[in-house]
Amino acid sequence: MIPFKQHDGPLTSELLREPGRFGLGQVPAGAVPDAVTTSICGFCSTGCRLRLHLKNGEAIGLTPEARYPVNLGMACPKGWEALAVLDAPDRATVPLLRDHPNGELRESNWDEAIQTMVNRFKEIQARHGKESLAFISTGQIPCEEMAFLGALAKFGMGMKHGDGNTRQCMATAVVAYKQSFGFDAPPYTYADFEESDVLVFVGGNPAIAHPILWQRVLSNRRSPEIVVIDPRRTETAHSGTRHIALKPKGDLWLLYALAHCIIEEGRVDQAYLDANTNGYQEFKAFLTEYTPEKAEVHTGLTPDAIRTLARLVSDPTKRVSWWWTMGVNQSYEGTRTAQAMINLALMTGNIGKPGTGANSITGQCNAMGSRLFSNTTNLLGGHDFGNPIHRAKISGLLGIEENRIQKEVGWAYDQIIDGIERGDIKGLWVIATNPNHSWINQDRFRKLRDKLDFLVVQDMYSSTETAQICDLLLPAAGWGEKEGVFINSERRIGTIRQVRKPPGVALSDFRIFRLLANAWGGDQFSEWTTPEAVFHLLTQVTEGQPCDISGITGYEMIDAAGGIQWPYPANGADVARERRLFADGRFFTPDGRAKFLYDAPAESLPEATDGKYPFLLLTGRGSSSQWHTQTRTAKSAILRKLSPSELYLDIHPSDAAQYGITEQDMVEVMSRRGSLVARAWLTPTMQRGQVFLPMHDPEVNRLTHASFDPHSRQPSYKASAVAIRKLKKSH
Ligand code: SF4
Repeated sequence: MIPFKQHDGPLTSELLREPGRFGLGQVPAGAVPDAVTTSICGFCSTGCRLRLHLKNGEAIGLTPEARYPVNLGMACPKGWEALAVLDAPDRATVPLLRDHPNGELRESNWDEAIQTMVNRFKEIQARHGKESLAFISTGQIPCEEMAFLGALAKFGMGMKHGDGNTRQCMATAVVAYKQSFGFDAPPYTYADFEESDVLVFVGGNPAIAHPILWQRVLSNRRSPEIVVIDPRRTETAHSGTRHIALKPKGDLWLLYALAHCIIEEGRVDQAYLDANTNGYQEFKAFLTEYTPEKAEVHTGLTPDAIRTLARLVSDPTKRVSWWWTMGVNQSYEGTRTAQAMINLALMTGNIGKPGTGANSITGQCNAMGSRLFSNTTNLLGGHDFGNPIHRAKISGLLGIEENRIQKEVGWAYDQIIDGIERGDIKGLWVIATNPNHSWINQDRFRKLRDKLDFLVVQDMYSSTETAQICDLLLPAAGWGEKEGVFINSERRIGTIRQVRKPPGVALSDFRIFRLLANAWGGDQFSEWTTPEAVFHLLTQVTEGQPCDISGITGYEMIDAAGGIQWPYPANGADVARERRLFADGRFFTPDGRAKFLYDAPAESLPEATDGKYPFLLLTGRGSSSQWHTQTRTAKSAILRKLSPSELYLDIHPSDAAQYGITEQDMVEVMSRRGSLVARAWLTPTMQRGQVFLPMHDPEVNRLTHASFDPHSRQPSYKASAVAIRKLKKSH
């Protein structure tokens, strides 16, 4: 059993009885709800729907929605505590402005804040050119706000470069799907968790990261095989039926060897391949040398084990589904790894049918919305900046002069960071994200602060690591204080509702964008008056696209239907509660066929371990009660009780013994970029030569090595070389 890490104290019912607390569905004494509304949870991409209990229009408690086809009456601790984190004392309540680079942030007001931002950004553009401004956005705000931000920044303010923190979590899946299927289209529906006979999880730990989805796996009545491919024996691996403990980054070799064996034993669905795919013969030739014997050295698995797994995932009597998350996405060869799973699903005909698919589970509550509407890597609605027909369409629908729409994709997150370092980017606008904590090789980001002439942070908390170093803080409303739609991992659109008033003079991001649009000048956004008005624009924008939602008439329809999965075109799709893509074998490529994509695996890790740095550092989610940089979850006393109170390092007992480390000793963990101190936990869930740190601690990304997938430019957070040293004095 995995030891449960140290907490502040026992999790007791006292917390639940604490006066004035609203979490865990508790209602304060004397407060009887007089109405109920619903809202999609604002943390993860599962997209659970919560019932919010209202008194005088304000939420005083919540319970999970039993009839919603996503969570079926369940919520994880974060969802239960969704209201509690709104009451934190460090909420940003008023604009804050720094008058001098070394001065303190002082209280300001909206007039001064907006005018200062507009003046400073225009000055920077006048001095350094339009491309000297950039923005970094998020997967945490609703589609309407994302679209407004992307349109205002690019079409209004003339910025070319903008990206989201979604680059850190699912850019790899986006590119994999686009290249293989012709559009960024996760094909599945959550019912597939319950309808599979074989579920293969690669680089994912849903028992912790997506606990409600994991509950759905556990409620599968088909007695499924649950195969977990992961170097760590995670909570998911413990509960699965088979754990495949690979050597570091052996996944691509394993997936190619599985494909090799399936061909060798004649278990390919040739009829499906002939009718629906391109490139199979070339892929088959490429696989010749990926024998299980050769794969042994790269994966640590015996040829027999590989052949046995290959027979399982190609059994024609079984429905096989492939699932991946950050262990694949956050990898320097993640795109090809994701496509290796797509290839296997195609080869065995496991796509477009119940219980099948090559399925990416994404991270943030509206990461899927950002994939369609953030106007960063795609032109609004999944369009292509480089396509003149697409530009003309968006220009016509939105009433924006066509020459305001750029013809090329702007820089990705890492390129924006490089641009700051070179002095090309002088003004940066950061919205609802915290790069000063989460960006890979964090110290580099910190040093770049001085290269910026003006840094604006728009956030609901004034205490984030990035807010603390900004020149201007715009106080934003959070989830529960505004409305709009999110899209979850299975493409389901759901609404969020305002059930609280933002604190102080904080405003919804939508209203902040309106203020900025007015102050910047121009009248392109006169129709962008309310979130629902923008939602209607977005439905029109998608018409004719694979993600067509032009048949959705508004928020009321979404609520009544129990969420609606895209596509939902105006010409008569049904509102079946569960819909998967590619049932007809037609994909979104020009000829309707899926493509096989592949590359030889890299010879070595981007930063190989050596005598000086002998351990491979893996980072990832620590518990179901923590969310990313903990900006919100650390504000809940209950969530703090449910998660470790200090930074810990998981290490194999034999490795620990070799370094004289015993349970709970303090250790220093060092990489070529920095060091930190953590408490050692000895656990055989780790392989020898590997250590694990939870990503939520602000120090962890001081260690990480900045390498990127070449196709998606997603940072590889799980491939850094570190050294360990026991500290003499116990802390
Ligand atoms: Fe919210 Fe995700 Fe938890 Fe569901 S699983 S309650 S969406 S954090």
